[in-house]
Amino acid sequence: TNYNRVVNFGAGPSALPVSVLEEASKGLLNFQNTGIGIAEISHRSKEFTAFVANLEVLIRTQLDVPSTHRILFTQGGGSGQFSAVVLNMLARYRLLHPECTAADTVTDYVVTGSWSKKAAEEARRLGGGTVNVVVDGRTFSEGGKAFDSIPAHDAYKFSEDPALVYYCENETVDGVEFSHEDSSPASFPFHLLPKGGLVPLVADYSSSFMCRPIPHLADHAIIYAGAQKNIGPAGLTILIVREDCIVDVDAAAKLGATPVPITLSYKTLADSGSLYNTPSVLAMYISGLVLERMQKHGGLKHYEETNRRKAGKVYSVLKEGEAKGVLRRKVKEGSGSWMNVVFEIVGPDAEKRFLEGAEERGMKGLKGHRSVGGIRVSLYNAVTEAEVDQLVEYIKDFILQ
Ligand code: PLP
Repeated sequence: TNYNRVVNFGAGPSALPVSVLEEASKGLLNFQNTGIGIAEISHRSKEFTAFVANLEVLIRTQLDVPSTHRILFTQGGGSGQFSAVVLNMLARYRLLHPECTAADTVTDYVVTGSWSKKAAEEARRLGGGTVNVVVDGRTFSEGGKAFDSIPAHDAYKFSEDPALVYYCENETVDGVEFSHEDSSPASFPFHLLPKGGLVPLVADYSSSFMCRPIPHLADHAIIYAGAQKNIGPAGLTILIVREDCIVDVDAAAKLGATPVPITLSYKTLADSGSLYNTPSVLAMYISGLVLERMQKHGGLKHYEETNRRKAGKVYSVLKEGEAKGVLRRKVKEGSGSWMNVVFEIVGPDAEKRFLEGAEERGMKGLKGHRSVGGIRVSLYNAVTEAEVDQLVEYIKDFILQ
């Protein structure tokens, strides 16, 4: 049965596999034969703690996370981490440089879209010293207003000894994503990072987590993601944190660093096995089911190949539409996201016609983010290749109309 479901191209929360939802509905009534539903069971029960341990293993094995890094679970979403990464990394910096004041501290932000811009604004709000914008993607757009490309490597201006270097791997709103080929001009310039010591590299992977392997994973200090795009419902935030970034924030506060709320401290999460307070039990459960299913289907290699083909098909039909003057891609060649493809329909009322036609064919969630308009097709893991083919057929028909 398909339960009268439509094809959901929404940007998040987004589609989940029907088989997982069916299994989860059983777990909602009775989790692993405990006689208690998953939304009702204690997070300290042996059944749930074993489930959490396995959730970690599923991520560690599929992403190949080395033993230098902890995997932690928390709440508060990507936005919560905009604050938490700054506070934890400033505490770490203070412990490394007790003589420095907040005013001497620099945080580096690579700004390639709306989400990294927001993260930089939060760092400024929290008074984390000087926020150095390493590069601003808008500088390279026509008119200087749109985030429509990943800047070339010579544009990046990193600081010498920043408390953190921040980037967002996939900009969900603007549809701009770093390439995973080191040789591509749109790759992240790992080779230009400040040398010496462990690089405090932080990456927001909210909308591309578990869609393909993470390049240079071991070189990151922190990688984080909300679950609600590729792996589960909203409410769960996943952190991959290098051991040296799990610091005694209270000792740092004694030296003058900003105090860190206890639930935002990575040390709190690490010391308690991510169970300091009640976690998002249901979101963790459904995410665990999705990750198990992914592993059964061949893991990230399989998803990488499928996601590459899915995005390739959509970009290819957009090129046809562009050649006919019906569509306009919003992101420059080479910087386009695999997960969120953004474009415009040319002509008055054309967008409305496009969206209505899609809905008549059972496809929803295609409206672009309210801040940028246009169309956005989100191609997260749960969107099947057959569903992408259905959309591509529709776009072809629309072009010919
Ligand atoms: N970062 C990215 C790349 C996102 O796509 C989003 C949300 O869509 C966020 C951060 C914010 O996440 P949350 O809504 O979980 O706070």
